[in-house]
Amino acid sequence: MKITIFGTGYVGLVTGACLADVGHEVLCMDVDPEKIDKLRNGIIPIYEPGLESIVSHNVSAGRLLFSTDTEEAVAHGEVQFIAVGTPPDEDGSADLQYVLAVARSIGQHMTGYKVVVDKSTVPVGTADKVAGALRAELDKRGEELDFDVVSNPEFLKEGAAVADFMKPDRIIVGTDSEKAEGILREVYYPFNRNHDRMIFMDVRSAELTKYAANAMLATKISFMNEVSNLAERLGADIESVRRGIGSDPRIGYHFIYPGCGYGGSCFPKDVTALSRTARDCDYEARLLNAVEAVNMAQKHVLFDKVSHYFGGDLQGKTIALWGLAFKPNTDDMREASSRVLMESLWKAGARVQAYDPEAMKETQRIYGEEPGLQLCGTKEQALKGADALVICTEWKEFRLPDFEVISEALSHPVVFDGRNLYEPEMLERHGLVYYAIGRGRNQ
Ligand code: NAD
Repeated sequence: MKITIFGTGYVGLVTGACLADVGHEVLCMDVDPEKIDKLRNGIIPIYEPGLESIVSHNVSAGRLLFSTDTEEAVAHGEVQFIAVGTPPDEDGSADLQYVLAVARSIGQHMTGYKVVVDKSTVPVGTADKVAGALRAELDKRGEELDFDVVSNPEFLKEGAAVADFMKPDRIIVGTDSEKAEGILREVYYPFNRNHDRMIFMDVRSAELTKYAANAMLATKISFMNEVSNLAERLGADIESVRRGIGSDPRIGYHFIYPGCGYGGSCFPKDVTALSRTARDCDYEARLLNAVEAVNMAQKHVLFDKVSHYFGGDLQGKTIALWGLAFKPNTDDMREASSRVLMESLWKAGARVQAYDPEAMKETQRIYGEEPGLQLCGTKEQALKGADALVICTEWKEFRLPDFEVISEALSHPVVFDGRNLYEPEMLERHGLVYYAIGRGRNQ
């Protein structure tokens, strides 16, 4: 099938590459000429495992095209995916300007039936707005062309995006059009062979499903963080508690890790946007508000521990920081806990020597001018001359470091672990003082 994707970010590029890989003819359109230029030259602007090879393979096969030309993009596909950003507006609601701009472009250039697919995460009611914006453009042209707007939210995880797209747990499609349903079944046919992963529902339910999924996951994290803060004060170990409650199949082990707060481009903005949607329909989403508040507080926990350890005086201290990305296997720094930590450390007069396996370029882009930051080529270099080590991201290469090297390099042999990577006894054996999240009274 001929498919157009608007937006070549994490979602758009992965969607386009994976759809091309199963045989569709895909054109990816972006308004950012630099991005499209890079992609045409085989350079992938983001880090995502497996993405580079799948893009280059399908470009060579002629199934994956890139363009900045809207007219060409609209003409290409019978199916038009909208996968542009929906960043938070000033009041926390999702900013739909990019989504509606695409809808208008489609209305300006379409010459026959199109299925318009909202893949971006958009508030309930957006499909109606997309249809309205598109229809208004058709009216201006005096055209009465047929189209359907479908909700098809994306559930891929950054860091495992290609694998998630290729083997989805479920494919949610919201539509009341039989024609659109048939077309979407064909789009996803190759991903649906083993068993039926497609769940059809009305448009509004599909739009809400995406927010509900992210809000549920964020709730699990904030819940565990709340209990970890209690565990610290009560002299309990959250890791024992986690295993204890995870063994109940009604709770399960997935996604109940305590830590220094969730970040990324989705959970923070989606929880806020859903809470904002609630307010718009005169409902105060008390639980969602608490999830967000707990997370914001949790992002300060590491700084508080470091500051407390140094008696509230961090002036002139050098902190080694391992992990900058908001989670492993990505270079994404949006809303990362490391940012809150670094900014607090700088404000307190400390310097940061930081290392991340993938997010160095992105950190340089954001904080390149910051005099208190030194980016280091390896995790060992980050330790040199540092007073303490803090870990913000659970990259594999941090899981079992040489503790002797850490112990010898730091002027204060102390590790603050925001992801509970180690057993306290392990570090104690190497003469390191260990602070983690929710692990007993001495924390
Ligand atoms: P992103 O910021 O990485 O990419 C968005 C892209 O859209 C940019 O390249 C931008 O230049 C482009 N764009 C803006 N206006 C455009 C237009 N008019 N025409 C064509 N391109 C345009 O965003 P992302 O992380 O890929 O997220 C996209 C959407 O998917 C968001 O709604 C997000 O909430 C949702 N989502 C993201 C993830 C994730 O893990 N990143 C997962 C599921 C859903």
